[in-house]
Amino acid sequence: MKKSPMNTSYYDRARETRDWSERKKDLNTRFLQTLRHAHHRSSAYREMYDAAGIDLSKIQGLEDIENLPLLRMTDLVERQRRVFPFGGFETLDPNELRRIYVNPGLLFQPGGEFESQDTSWAHALCGAGFKAGDRIINTFNYHLWPFARVMEESAQHIGAAVIPAGSGNTMMQVKIMQMLEVNGFLGTPSFLTTLVQRAEAMGLDLRKDIFLETALVSAEMLPESLRARLQEKLDMTVRQAYGTVFLGCIGFECQAMTGLHVPDSICLEIVDPGTGRHVPAGSVGEIVATSFSRSYPMIRMATGDLSCLSDETCPCGRTGPLLKKIIGRMDQATKVKGVFIHPWQADEVMARYREVFKYQIVITRKNHMDIMTLIVEVKEDIAETTSLQRRMEREIEEMLGVRGSVQIVPRGTLPDRHRKIEDQRSWD
Ligand SMILES: [Zn+2]
Repeated sequence: MKKSPMNTSYYDRARETRDWSERKKDLNTRFLQTLRHAHHRSSAYREMYDAAGIDLSKIQGLEDIENLPLLRMTDLVERQRRVFPFGGFETLDPNELRRIYVNPGLLFQPGGEFESQDTSWAHALCGAGFKAGDRIINTFNYHLWPFARVMEESAQHIGAAVIPAGSGNTMMQVKIMQMLEVNGFLGTPSFLTTLVQRAEAMGLDLRKDIFLETALVSAEMLPESLRARLQEKLDMTVRQAYGTVFLGCIGFECQAMTGLHVPDSICLEIVDPGTGRHVPAGSVGEIVATSFSRSYPMIRMATGDLSCLSDETCPCGRTGPLLKKIIGRMDQATKVKGVFIHPWQADEVMARYREVFKYQIVITRKNHMDIMTLIVEVKEDIAETTSLQRRMEREIEEMLGVRGSVQIVPRGTLPDRHRKIEDQRSWD
């Protein structure tokens, strides 16, 4: 039986819908506990805060959090290379260590009984529509890194059964889904797409032979066009969640899809990446989060991902912050004429034009001046391009805050795999 579109199940209803002041008080208490614990137990935080001249007695609560330095992935890497294996960020009793996870880039992470105390991914599973009794195929990679295991434990928290499939052997996975009447999927959007293609190639009827009702996808961007296609083909619900291995779940979609609900296992900030200060309400900035882990706390960890907070309230009743979708990465941004431009800004303008097939922003430099050109490939040849070109130039300037010229080119001009922003400037 398929679910109704407004299923609003919670993992912990009271906690997820409590009022804002109560939530804030609780976050404040846990933040201060984590900070003191980290400063007491972790050599890395002690060193970082001493170097930044932080007087811990002056950090009285979340209102002072901006005074702490950001923790960047590069800091974590650099410290782990110096102090094996965890870089001195660990705060656990060494006797509690049960696993050592190895994340891409040989980044180590402690594991043990304490992990299962974080139920934020269980919140995400319920938000997506999973429930007790579901049969879920978990196709996240079980090899070396923690995520698949964390998702499996979270599914168990909600009373579902997991098939620990990992990401190999797609034909076998399709057969497992068919024979066990699997109704839930965990994995990346691209792997779900691969399984669907495989099932079609095997001659299966997606609506009769595959029983999927709910998918929670993560670890990759989910284009809306792909979501629509998967939901239509399989007659199922596809929801996404966002997080990192070191911070856990940062946001998840509920049935209403108003944005990403931020669980109270972390404290979220949207900051100006240059200064680390909070951006004005509703502005785009870098996502920074603090986890309350008792073993490996991440305090003000900068994710490199860009988003902004929504001022909407969600009809599902969850009261925590609501993050709009992730709109890009810091490292894809480029500065042109002193202004940061991001691929998502141009995406937003280009999405208004049905004529556009794809585009590329090319940045060059002449006489010490930046020149921005948008090469726009159209679906079909257009006889008169001047007015289209002018309109695009005007909208691009409005959205990006930088003037650029638009060049309309026939389909097939841009290579298949191309960067959204091609920076051709040389700085010697
Ligand atoms: Zn909601």
